Amino acid sequence: MHIDLTGKTALVTGGARGIGRQVCLSLAAAGASVIINYSKSDEAALSLQSEIGGAAVACLKADVSKEDEVRAMFGQVRKTHKRLDILVNNAGIIKDNLLIAMEQPEWDKVLDINLKGTFLCAKYAAEQMMAQKAGRIINIASVAALKSSRGQSNYAASKGGVVAFTRAIAVELAPKGILVNAILPGMIVTQMSERVRKRAQDAILAAIPLGRYGLPEDVAALVVFLASEFSSYITGQAIPVDGGMTVS
Ligand code: NAP
Repeated sequence: MHIDLTGKTALVTGGARGIGRQVCLSLAAAGASVIINYSKSDEAALSLQSEIGGAAVACLKADVSKEDEVRAMFGQVRKTHKRLDILVNNAGIIKDNLLIAMEQPEWDKVLDINLKGTFLCAKYAAEQMMAQKAGRIINIASVAALKSSRGQSNYAASKGGVVAFTRAIAVELAPKGILVNAILPGMIVTQMSERVRKRAQDAILAAIPLGRYGLPEDVAALVVFLASEFSSYITGQAIPVDGGMTVS
């Protein structure tokens, strides 16, 4: 099976760092033209663009939780790049706290970026994909949608929302030729998981049947598959990439 995404244009939200960065690299390696979205990591985005070279066709700054910025970003994509074949909704944050200590801004911020951001980007991408009668939307959710951890009520709610949203829009967009799936990463080695990995390394590894943390490459490989012709009969699914964590 050789995946060739030549001629496809992909936009990756939060593409400058962590999982998103590897998704950009892997999509570009498969032949796609990649648009790197970022909100704060200007330097990392520019350095990734130069590392990827010609396949990284743009770096677009936008906070995915702000509709005016998202609208402007997709307007720019339409104007400059004409096509949008693949959207990877990867941007996300955590703000962990126990329920009774959680302040509303901690709840709102996580829901705004993780869930509202996914909605806004999917909405504006779908407009363009519907005109093309084809497209792939890949939402990066989390195993937190299925398996609970203390202090993550806001994050779990946001990612559970992303999974339900994925299913709902997969049904709506299937007749338009747009396939929508979610990936549920387990414990992946990035800045986001660093503190938890340091605090509870032995317990976490004991809960992962494959006995290791995931790498951004493990998630990116599934993104590339879901973006390819080989997944053309898969839509509305939520697929864990977690070393078996959710089945143990
Ligand atoms: P990370 O290293 O902390 O990176 C987060 C990314 O999200 C950054 O590129 C950041 O870009 C972007 N971002 C944050 N707020 C944004 C906003 N308002 N608008 C646009 N981009 C924004 O985290 P990661 O581990 O790579 O996580 C990527 C995704 O995987 C997230 O959705 C996360 O929930 C999910 N996930 C991660 C794990 C894990 O173990 N690491 C597990 C399950 C799910 P800027 O720096 O430019 O703001």
